[in-house]
Amino acid sequence: MSSSYIVEPPRRLPVLGRSDIIVVGGGPAGISAALAAAREGASVTLIERYSFLGGLASGGMVLVLDDMCAGEEITVRGICSELVERMRSRGLAIYPPERERGHDPAMYRKWSRWGLFDFNVRTRPHPICYAVAFDPEGWKQTSFDMITEAGIDLRLHSQFAGTIMRDGRIEGVVVQSKEGRGSILGEIVIDTTGDLDVGVEAGAAYDKSNYMVTTVFRLGGVDTDEAEHFQFEEPDLYAKLDLEARRVIGGSWDYWWLKTPLPGVVWCNCPHMTGLDGTSVADLTRAEIEGRLRIRAMVAHVREKIPGFQNCYLIDVAPQTGVRQTRMLKGAYVVTKEDIVDRVQFSDSVARGRDYYTPYRALLSREVGNLLVAGRHYSATPAAQKISREIPPCMAMGEAAGTAAAMAIFTNTAPAHVDVSSLQARLRAHGADPGAACAHRGDA
Ligand SMILES: Cc1cc2nc3c(=O)[nH]c(=O)nc-3n(C[C@H](O)[C@H](O)[C@H](O)COP(=O)(O)OP(=O)(O)OC[C@H]3O[C@@H](n4cnc5c(N)ncnc54)[C@H](O)[C@@H]3O)c2cc1C
Repeated sequence: MSSSYIVEPPRRLPVLGRSDIIVVGGGPAGISAALAAAREGASVTLIERYSFLGGLASGGMVLVLDDMCAGEEITVRGICSELVERMRSRGLAIYPPERERGHDPAMYRKWSRWGLFDFNVRTRPHPICYAVAFDPEGWKQTSFDMITEAGIDLRLHSQFAGTIMRDGRIEGVVVQSKEGRGSILGEIVIDTTGDLDVGVEAGAAYDKSNYMVTTVFRLGGVDTDEAEHFQFEEPDLYAKLDLEARRVIGGSWDYWWLKTPLPGVVWCNCPHMTGLDGTSVADLTRAEIEGRLRIRAMVAHVREKIPGFQNCYLIDVAPQTGVRQTRMLKGAYVVTKEDIVDRVQFSDSVARGRDYYTPYRALLSREVGNLLVAGRHYSATPAAQKISREIPPCMAMGEAAGTAAAMAIFTNTAPAHVDVSSLQARLRAHGADPGAACAHRGDA
């Protein structure tokens, strides 16, 4: 960053709106937070920089929802399930029926290329589990339906640009759009930007780290039947060619291509680019250019080498860069890797992932009294965040934060003083699973 600077003169900002609760960032966590708060009866403004909702799920084209079950038990429900069922009813989401889940090699062959298996279980083949493959446009349309039905003031094409502070509280946020700069005032702000944009501006304590960055892409024209047949009938040759392809792209999971609800269209969760800061303009620019160079090389390679890919073509590279981790709140409690791995339950648990739990305190800033957070920048160590930031748990956190914010409004109290057992009860009443509440390590 440059060391020279200019001083921006003060200016009058038009007040564009007022609401009880302002949610900044319309990704998985933000959609859930806004819906939960509005359904409790609060007035809600939802601010999003892009032209659509969904964040990494739709704009990042991360097209599998996982970490939402532990064995046979479905652990993330509520708004996440509602979105899934609405997309599914339109043929834009798919998951294995209950009878086809588990350790059956035939079912593995049927479902694994959708990515709907539990990769945390080390036995091979991995068990098929409750996970969901979906279409990005299906997500965008369905979340628009849900947000408009709930009467939320949705402001797209609006970039969060600052906070208006008074006595350590956020009075409102500044947004930048084609209309210029304006302010939106509110009682409680929920930061769901993924990078803690609001928290940082407001003065909340945070940690910073980074993990791999990926320019996710989709290929069309893939004969997936032929490719799957090759994989299962000639596993050794497939493994050799697949490894070569992964070397060309430069880093990938074992399953670099996965089927989507659109026939012949696959999504590719690669390349893996390391050492990049997802909040640096220079690094993000580099990732977009470098990612496309690698994708170009990969497409040419697989067209020539891998059966089923001979006629494939690049459809698109995800409009939202695949940034997994940047700034994370250092909140009232910081979740550790041990908490996740040891499945520590907290008496103030308000959200679950696979078999791990999120305490309400991990959504609360210690410094800024009317700020809540939800999503991939929740209060966790970098090692804990890496294994607890999938889309469904981010949605569960959002639902908890939105419900808590509305309760704070209606009981005229600060988010930190919301009665947690009432919050857990409200979440259960709405079909969400806040996690078992019992006293254990890590409790306040
Ligand atoms: C490459 C990759 C692969 C992944 N694979 C999986 C997977 O297979 N399954 C899975 O479940 N999870 C996966 N994840 C993790 C998951 O996608 C994210 O952790 C999750 O989407 C985080 O949700 P979020 O709402 O916290 O943040 P995001 O999805 O990042 O959403 C943040 C939202 O805030 C908006 N925003 C940000 N800043 C501003 C601003 N200043 N002003 C206005 N709006 C703003 C963004 O545009 C976006 O809509 C993957 C992630 C990546 C990057």
